[in-house]
Amino acid sequence: MDEFDEIVSSCTPRETGAVDIYQNTVGLACPSCDKPFDDLIVSKEFTRLNLSRQMDICASVHEGNPVLFTHRK
Ligand SMILES: [Zn+2]
Repeated sequence: MDEFDEIVSSCTPRETGAVDIYQNTVGLACPSCDKPFDDLIVSKEFTRLNLSRQMDICASVHEGNPVLFTHRK
């Protein structure tokens, strides 16, 4: 099991579909910046994400899918 799978299995699924959203309810650190993130977003299609809140985003790629870690301000 790699780091990404560990993160997914520790988070709480909120939405599934073209975009999967997992909420970080356990205070996991973002693998990019080491600060706790709020939501993990896995985009299985290239969709335009409607991110209405102002937030910092760390982007990564896992198995060819864009993966975003959001940090609310
Ligand atoms: Zn981050």
